[in-house]
Amino acid sequence: MSAAQFIISDRFSAAPGRSGRIICTARTTGTLPHKNVPALTKADSILSMKSKKSKNENNAKICAEVRQVYDWLDSQLKLLNIDCSACGKCCDFESFGHKLFITSPELLYFYENLKPLKQMPGPACPYMENGKCTARDFRFAGCRIFFCKADDEKINELSELVIKKFKALCDEFNFPYRYVELSAALNNPELLKLIEL
Ligand code: SF4
Ligand code: SF4
Repeated sequence: MSAAQFIISDRFSAAPGRSGRIICTARTTGTLPHKNVPALTKADSILSMKSKKSKNENNAKICAEVRQVYDWLDSQLKLLNIDCSACGKCCDFESFGHKLFITSPELLYFYENLKPLKQMPGPACPYMENGKCTARDFRFAGCRIFFCKADDEKINELSELVIKKFKALCDEFNFPYRYVELSAALNNPELLKLIEL
């Protein structure tokens, strides 16, 4: 189980200091913008492109860090040599009596690799098909850590370490931290807005 956090898009917020004054860019055609809708200026477009570029760059760095955490986690789990038949039963959360929590940087990484994301209409993970994970390379820490036959103490210890790493990553990249159940992450458009460009 894990948690998540995001860079909040500022694409709908006014730039600091802007009053909403109408700037007419349509003199040559004689048309005027609607008095309540400020026209986009060239400077606005450049600012928006710059903001998108910088968000893209930050997201790419966060995704690289998430990958490193997963690689570290996989190496730690390998040492434990836990038996798992990859039957996929634990991905049907309701029937297994299990919940999967994820963190926002993980959701970003998942999204960047698998967009558009699937919704979760039922109690099972929508990425499980015929008992197999179709998102295996990008699956969450909670998916990697959970083993029905594992020593809980060791697994809890690893979970806490991983969550600490994701929290630190969010602090470092000024990315909002969220820790939510998978269904809440996939079915909540407001949450997804935080990671979509
Ligand atoms: S992402 Fe894959 S491993 Fe994780 S719950 Fe979904 S199907 Fe299972
Ligand atoms: S952890 Fe257990 S239930 Fe889940 S895939 Fe492995 S063997 Fe199946």
